[in-house]
Amino acid sequence: MKKHNFYAGPSILPQYTIEKTLEGIQNFAETGLSVLEISHRSKEFVAVMEEAQRLFKELLDIPDGYSVLFLQGGASTQFAMVPYNLLNTKAAYLDTGAWSSKAIKEAKGFGETAVVASSKEQGYNYIPKDYQIPEDADYFHITTNNTIAGTEIKEDIDSPVPLVADMSSDIFSRPIDVSKYALIYGGAQKNLGPAGTTFVIIKDDILGKVNRHIPTMLNYQTHIDKGSMFNTPPVLAVFSALQTLKWLKNNGSVAAAQKRNIEKANLLYDEIDRNKLFKAAVPNPEDRSLMNITFVMNDDYKQHEQDFLDYAAQQGIVGIKGHRSVGGFRASTYNALPKESVEVLVKAMQDFEKRVS
Ligand SMILES: *Cc1c(COP(=O)(O)O)cnc(C)c1O
Repeated sequence: MKKHNFYAGPSILPQYTIEKTLEGIQNFAETGLSVLEISHRSKEFVAVMEEAQRLFKELLDIPDGYSVLFLQGGASTQFAMVPYNLLNTKAAYLDTGAWSSKAIKEAKGFGETAVVASSKEQGYNYIPKDYQIPEDADYFHITTNNTIAGTEIKEDIDSPVPLVADMSSDIFSRPIDVSKYALIYGGAQKNLGPAGTTFVIIKDDILGKVNRHIPTMLNYQTHIDKGSMFNTPPVLAVFSALQTLKWLKNNGSVAAAQKRNIEKANLLYDEIDRNKLFKAAVPNPEDRSLMNITFVMNDDYKQHEQDFLDYAAQQGIVGIKGHRSVGGFRASTYNALPKESVEVLVKAMQDFEKRVS
């Protein structure tokens, strides 16, 4: 049976990415070797890295003066690497979820960390809007899409200090104005490629302002200077991410992806709002994520939660169980998820409503 993959991460990839990755594993760039068994210094792999960086810049319209890096250690390593490289005296953070709070915890080890606002007391079900960014902060850190709670900052905000964003789960889901950011990072495994690489978009001139010693591998400058090839990069993850970038370009680039994402999300949110069994976990439509759609069963129907998961599984729907900290359901509707999968989920919700009532 056809599977409809709503996992939050690692998550659905374009079929194109899977097929091209398989080809590269078997016979990479007509070398007769696997991409897994060839030097990362070979001209064939150097071309992969360069093309991935070039397409990244093209698809996001990244201005001059920025570098694109493919590192390891996940977004979680960036939680420490950002303050290591940028925090001199004080950093500001917006606390919008579990991932933000992990980033805050790491920053505290490097200097004063001001949390300008938090939605924690309401289970992170909204995006705080009334806050002041301290003008003396070295940077302001946001998580644009809160993968667990299902909220999203869908616009590029203005910040009086360098803006740093964790975009692990919404990179390439909408056009962004990169010039408003000093640094953007994320794990690849939500909307870009397989797990194993972490992308970083960095404005070159924000570096060199802290006084501490930075270990070579944790210093962004090391990787900028060497074109993200200081040491062995995660070759398969980068190769595979490149295939997704090509797929995206062939499918109308980021603007077209955004249009599809809005359509998919509207379809599902409309059904959640209509169906008497369910309610959205995020009350304010403005704050609702287009990538991770969280919903719960209304109080009168709570006892049917497991039944619905089972029923959905019978329709080929996988990965909609909510994160353990939120409960209920979460449907991740990343770029690669076809609209058809959302339609199947909506139909399952409608059919289940008839069964129960
Ligand atoms: C998944 C996720 C992370 C953690 O990424 P790792 O690569 O597993 O470290 C961090 N931030 C956000 C917003 C995420 O969705």
